Amino acid sequence: MEKTQMAMLKLVLLGPPGAGKGTQAKSLSEELGLAHISTGDILRQAIQLDSALGKEAKHYVDKGELVPDGLVTKMVIERLKRPDAKRGFILDGFPRNIKQAEDLDSFFAQEGYSDYKVIYLDATEKTIIQRLGGRMICKKCQAVFHMTNMPPKEGSRCDFCKSELYQRQDDREETVKYRLSVYAQATKPVVEYYARQGRIMEFDADRESSVVLKEMLQGL
Ligand SMILES: [Zn+2]
Repeated sequence: MEKTQMAMLKLVLLGPPGAGKGTQAKSLSEELGLAHISTGDILRQAIQLDSALGKEAKHYVDKGELVPDGLVTKMVIERLKRPDAKRGFILDGFPRNIKQAEDLDSFFAQEGYSDYKVIYLDATEKTIIQRLGGRMICKKCQAVFHMTNMPPKEGSRCDFCKSELYQRQDDREETVKYRLSVYAQATKPVVEYYARQGRIMEFDADRESSVVLKEMLQGL
């Protein structure tokens, strides 16, 4: 594909936790000059900027509650309207359920974005548990290590600032299994929804991320 066309790519990235969505979205956005739109980042930014939607979201975050689906959708759409996203984007972590997928489709139809593509990173439960289960994070600088894939040089201390490493509650095996069941219930139907539209490009994300990236770039 021509470079100019590449820059207009509109991508939705789906997959279970631990499939490497964040890493791949970042690499694809850099390689293809796309705006990387992750729901986590949008939420943090909106709250920081104190926008109308940010204020509304903060209300839930402060109470430790989940930000409602509809509000997340509004924030994603607000972000998609910004000039950089009009030149091409990759959505990471959205949509998470059928309602969000349908609302996103309405917005895409309004904008004339009929040619968007959906990348599905599939990974087995075994790989996911092994990946997330080995992840260790620095208490101080938040650097991420992996006990088998990217072990710290000295025991369980950060290579950069020598602080102690810890495992996030989210990455413990029981929690990972729970996150996978939530994913299966809400997000798997989204994959089927896009499959019915004939938009899915599926990649085996059990493999090393550089191999998967290369294959995605060739497939696009
Ligand atoms: Zn550190």
